[in-house]
Amino acid sequence: MRDKKIQSGITTAGILATMIFGAGNLMAESSSAYPALSIPFEAESVSAENVYYFAGQSGVPGPENEGFTANSGFVITGKGVVVFDALGTPSLGFEMIAKIREMTALPITHVVISHYHADHVYGLQAFRDHTEAKIIAQESSAAYIQSPDADRRLEQRKVALSPWVNDETRLIAPDMTFDETTTFESGGFRFTILHAGPAHAPDDSLMLVEPAGVLFSGDIIQNGRVPFLASSEVDTANWMSAIDEVRALEPEILIPGHGRASGNAMAALNFTYDYLAYVREKMGDAVDQWMQFDDAYQQTDWSRYKNLPAFDASNKANAYRVYLEMEKAALGGS
Ligand SMILES: [Zn+2]
Repeated sequence: MRDKKIQSGITTAGILATMIFGAGNLMAESSSAYPALSIPFEAESVSAENVYYFAGQSGVPGPENEGFTANSGFVITGKGVVVFDALGTPSLGFEMIAKIREMTALPITHVVISHYHADHVYGLQAFRDHTEAKIIAQESSAAYIQSPDADRRLEQRKVALSPWVNDETRLIAPDMTFDETTTFESGGFRFTILHAGPAHAPDDSLMLVEPAGVLFSGDIIQNGRVPFLASSEVDTANWMSAIDEVRALEPEILIPGHGRASGNAMAALNFTYDYLAYVREKMGDAVDQWMQFDDAYQQTDWSRYKNLPAFDASNKANAYRVYLEMEKAALGGS
């Protein structure tokens, strides 16, 4: 155990030395080293062969977790490494690359992004600076990258996550975007990426890995927790149809955007699907009957969800967003 730690330190230093001394001006310019991590950071194997993930800590990004609050993962195929999400600081992205390089000499070929929220994408900078990987995301990520929200978030993280997020930290745009779905194959694996947003974010996407039967879900499928519909333009119909498509492929293992991986992906998918269907049904009926939201919310039987984590924090706001969505649909808005 101890040897392994020491060795991983040497490997990281070795890579750093190569980058600093091996590439001259270019590397000197692109900040040769990111602030080091002091938290434990190890890839965990999921039961599917060749699939690993880094399990982020619970809580809000801050000095105690050094920004490691989301999950990310990777698949070592016969030809290269496909990464899903890049974590919340360049240092974390860099450590991911170092851990992957301890396991394989194959190149990192793709980084697929679940959605452009800070806890999932600030690590992209390390992938851009130190790998040839192509970054793939859904096309509405572009709007976020150019928005004042993105700038505000970066300023906030420079304070909350100093020194790991700092004046050198920058948002990296995707190299390739897709609209509804895209697939690619690499070394015996097929990767299917589906747009499911706007749900938690406009660009929410899932990635299914076959034949491993692993679903990387980003933040829109959670395990036994009421989901949070943070987007004001949530499209639950689109979200449900994405879940339907993924269900048809019968994934076994779920790696969510936050929290532990699960060996029962279908249960998590069904839970989210049923929740969305229930809220849509109840709020849709209320809209049909010209009922005010507050009355509709009071009259709805929430008992099956009431005791779940995040119910108090999310359920009423979720129901309200769905109410507005159903109202818009009923009025023929687009
Ligand atoms: Zn997240």
